[in-house]
Amino acid sequence: MTVPTALRVPATAALLDAWESGLGGDPADRALPVLALMCGDDRDLDDCALGEWNRLSLRARALLFGASADTVADCPDCGAQLEASIPLTELISGEPADAGEAVLDAYGVRYRLPTRRDLGAVADLPVEQAARRLLARCVLSIRSGGEELSVDELPEELADAMDAAISAADPDAVLEAALTCPDCGDAVRLSLDPASFLWHEVDRWALRVLAEVAELAAVFGWSEDAIVALSPWRRQMYLSLAGRWS
Ligand SMILES: [Zn+2]
Repeated sequence: MTVPTALRVPATAALLDAWESGLGGDPADRALPVLALMCGDDRDLDDCALGEWNRLSLRARALLFGASADTVADCPDCGAQLEASIPLTELISGEPADAGEAVLDAYGVRYRLPTRRDLGAVADLPVEQAARRLLARCVLSIRSGGEELSVDELPEELADAMDAAISAADPDAVLEAALTCPDCGDAVRLSLDPASFLWHEVDRWALRVLAEVAELAAVFGWSEDAIVALSPWRRQMYLSLAGRWS
């Protein structure tokens, strides 16, 4: 089991910088500068397995904005609007699997979990081809009866079984919240993308901070650096004073 990376709460100025770098990025990568900042090490986050990436995103979201997220969705059955507060960190399996080896029929397969880099490399391929290519990237060796085989020599049904084994070894790669529709009582599974959750919160936060900077600068004439260096608490105090001042 891997030890979770310790995350740190960044200073306001640094988080604003990370938000700005994320703005121009591909939607799937926008949270990357924020997470890199919060991880604070030289680790390349593109090497994260998908489950680890999701866990990091959820923990970062919880650290910055609290552990529950309000969400709204439509019931696929009756169309009613579902509102729920999702306890984010409870979505994590808590038991990151040790991926590595699977025995399928007479085949012994060593593999690693797909990473963000792997997914990026197959993103433009048609689905079937992408699945095969992903498998080829992640399977390290296949042995059968003392012989070494390639992924292409693996029978189709075993390739599917291998896909399933890899998915099972990284349960947090796909995260869902279970909701119950208040109108029809249907169970609704809502799929979640924690990194985009995190990004949207950071984006909203940044726009709020910039508005506060604009207001305080207009009233007191302070620089952006000076205002951003204030603690959030002091910024709020000055904002309430600014109302009286102007
Ligand atoms: Zn319903």
